[in-house]
Amino acid sequence: MDFPRKPISRRELLRGTAAGGFALGSALALGNVSAVKARALNLKVTGAKDVPSICPYCAVGCGTMISVVNGNKVVNIEGNPNSPINEGNLCPKGAATLQMATTPLRELKVKYRAPGATQWEEKPLDWAMDRITQLTKETRDRTFAPTFRTKGADGNEVEKEVNHTLAIGSLGGATMDNEWNYVHLKLMRALGVVHLENQARI
Ligand code: SF4
Repeated sequence: MDFPRKPISRRELLRGTAAGGFALGSALALGNVSAVKARALNLKVTGAKDVPSICPYCAVGCGTMISVVNGNKVVNIEGNPNSPINEGNLCPKGAATLQMATTPLRELKVKYRAPGATQWEEKPLDWAMDRITQLTKETRDRTFAPTFRTKGADGNEVEKEVNHTLAIGSLGGATMDNEWNYVHLKLMRALGVVHLENQARI
């Protein structure tokens, strides 16, 4: 259905905003304070610890505020008004970050098919992490090269110190936040991995 639209002037907008702010202030001033307090005590963020973080979804890097209770239970995530990037605003994707942390649909098992096998087996996530760690270490130790033979500027063959492995690559995703990326990069460099790429974070 189409609604008739009347253009609003800048002066009318400012007048309306000021009137709205005054009405809200008056309502709070005249309202029932104990009722407001009672309502506040029932809020899910009451008594929660606020932890500033960064939205994991894209390179804009909007600031978020994560409310945590009982040490590690995330109960709310919203925009951080102190962030100069977004000043408390989040796009719809960022505003739904809570469900990424708390959804019961989160996968906690992996499917594994052993070399030569024809059937998939279900394994716990921790098992997969251990296996990835083991294979990374084995591959790195087997392929690590302290030096690399190439041609120098004068065309003669030279041996250069490189301390790298070309057998492992690392591809990051947008849900890796800045802190994770920092530590991950340190780990990859320490292993000698030089093929590093990331989908969105800078
Ligand atoms: S809130 Fe939206 S724009 Fe901001 S970092 Fe997250 S995905 Fe990007």
